[in-house]
Amino acid sequence: MDEHSPLEAEIRRRILAGGPMPVAEYMALCLSDPVHGYYTTHDPFGARGDFITAPEVSQMFGELIGLWVAAVWKQMGAPENVRLIELGPGRGTMMKDALRAVQIVPEFRAAIVVHMVEVSPVLRAQQEKALEGTGVPAFWHSALTEVPKGRAIVFANEFFDALPVNQAVKTERGWHERRIQIDSSGQLAFTIAPEPIPFFQTLLPPALRAPRAGAIFEWRADTAAMELGRRVADERGSALVIDYGHAEIGLGETLQAVDQHAYADPLTFPGSLDLTAHVDFQSLTRAVEAMGATGFGPIDQSQFLRRLGIEHRAATLKAKTARATEIDQALARLIGQNRSAMGELFKVAAFAHPSIGVPPGFET
Ligand code: SAH
Repeated sequence: MDEHSPLEAEIRRRILAGGPMPVAEYMALCLSDPVHGYYTTHDPFGARGDFITAPEVSQMFGELIGLWVAAVWKQMGAPENVRLIELGPGRGTMMKDALRAVQIVPEFRAAIVVHMVEVSPVLRAQQEKALEGTGVPAFWHSALTEVPKGRAIVFANEFFDALPVNQAVKTERGWHERRIQIDSSGQLAFTIAPEPIPFFQTLLPPALRAPRAGAIFEWRADTAAMELGRRVADERGSALVIDYGHAEIGLGETLQAVDQHAYADPLTFPGSLDLTAHVDFQSLTRAVEAMGATGFGPIDQSQFLRRLGIEHRAATLKAKTARATEIDQALARLIGQNRSAMGELFKVAAFAHPSIGVPPGFET
């Protein structure tokens, strides 16, 4: 009998049949294989799960995003019907908190139809539960392309970091695609393609073209970002993307595995560990703008949430509850600048149809 998990057995079969596997193919199988993928089979969130995301840290996060969305809707001319689209909604907490916060803008709430874009059946069931009783109609899709046309506001927290990333390694002979093989001891291990990728360096900014041997460059397919840009441009819409990553294109390996809040080897236990990689906001913005939307930011999450009034919101909540310490801790986690906080590592970018102007929080 095979001692490996069903997904690892499948990955090994593919490597034996087709040769070393590109990192992006490995990541896609690990996260969203329809039967054994991490998101397909797990609810990874929360203090007892593998990691915690901003909407799970505090209700303040989703509430402020809700108020941002309502303000953008007004800038869009307050259309009578608007699709509120969330990419990768996890447990549905951010949408639930956002819908509660926009109760103070009833004409906006009446205009909304919610569209959730989710691949995982486990998480989709949780999202349905989270949105029960909100009184706002909601529909589920497995891709943004499936959401019907119409004026739209899209948002996503920690969605792009879960999309598969490709890697290339610099050697004396050029840039080689990084792949995954079975090594002589029978373990999954990184290797590189024998031949360099032709003209790869011409795709890089000049400053990155001649690094030391062994340097790693990561990139994602632009498909999801381009689809987002097309939606914003065609539907005179807007979008908000929140994720961890870097503002400018750069070198370095950021692919990481997390298991119960601790870092792990990304090649162990495929399908049981969360895999993510930094979002390159420069490349993301270029892809979105190529479709006709205008990009704003990225700015640090700390700056964005402060501009939306998170400190004021925290003070109001503290006055109403006995859990003041908890609120202070959540605030520190969301806007703190130290390494264990999200304030500086996480970035926020907005995109809008050129007619809409500067979205709230991005004024210079
Ligand atoms: N936004 C949530 C969850 C982030 S985790 C939060 O902040 O808590 C990533 C989410 O994206 C999960 O819901 C996962 O199932 C979903 N996801 C991952 N890849 C996807 C894809 N290709 N299409 C749609 N959803 C995807």
